[in-house]
Amino acid sequence: MIFDTHAHYDDKAFQDDRDSLLASMEENGIGCIVNVCASVGEFGRTVKLTEQYPFIYGAVGVHPDDADKMTEETLDEIRRLSHMKKMIAIGEIGLDYYWHKEETEHQLQQKMFRAQMDIGREEKLPFMIHSRDAAEDTLNIVREYMNGGMYGGIIHCFSYGKEIAREYLKMGLYLGIGGVLTFKNARKLKEVAEIAPLEQIVLETDCPYMSPEPYRGKRNSSLNLIYVAKTLAEIKGITPEEVIAVTEANAKRLLNLK
Ligand SMILES: [Zn+2]
Repeated sequence: MIFDTHAHYDDKAFQDDRDSLLASMEENGIGCIVNVCASVGEFGRTVKLTEQYPFIYGAVGVHPDDADKMTEETLDEIRRLSHMKKMIAIGEIGLDYYWHKEETEHQLQQKMFRAQMDIGREEKLPFMIHSRDAAEDTLNIVREYMNGGMYGGIIHCFSYGKEIAREYLKMGLYLGIGGVLTFKNARKLKEVAEIAPLEQIVLETDCPYMSPEPYRGKRNSSLNLIYVAKTLAEIKGITPEEVIAVTEANAKRLLNLK
């Protein structure tokens, strides 16, 4: 079944039909979903979803956009929640220089990224990384942690070229691939999907964002992942069923799920 490694079902975009939508997942071939925290003060919403639905797991962490809102208490809270049985990763964490151009912001993002990677390493949890326009700094920090005993993780919504992809693949990491793959102008990501072994790719929606074709621009959900699986299957010259089976096994292996 399809494993969605990165979703935000706590988002207000789902406020009107969250329960009916999530209730329809299983009959539509969606086996597992990781709901990923992003903002300070909103971890409880992911905890609630993991308690409500047996097939939803959580990742706890703070997105670089919120780096300036983080305190020692936030880090304590992340560590505390990371002990919960269904919190299976630290994320989404990382660097975003697209929306934040100041050097002081970059420094602060790096500090908070490292602080959360420290928690992941100590708690032996994989990471889920957001990285935009920050290829070199992200790669350097990830490499440092992977050399320092970090368990592993996913580069979510992978947006760089194949040279950077190769560096992550060499470290044994996984690339998170979603709706962008289906876009006509996604040449760079299609090249990455060609060279990356299927055993190191996981599927993700990043919903409510990043809807694949033919729903580009609309609200996304895990139900649309089949379009990503089909596109990836075409690129790899295999069936969508194979893509679904292998990427599911990848996610379960990385996230330590049976
Ligand atoms: Zn996300």
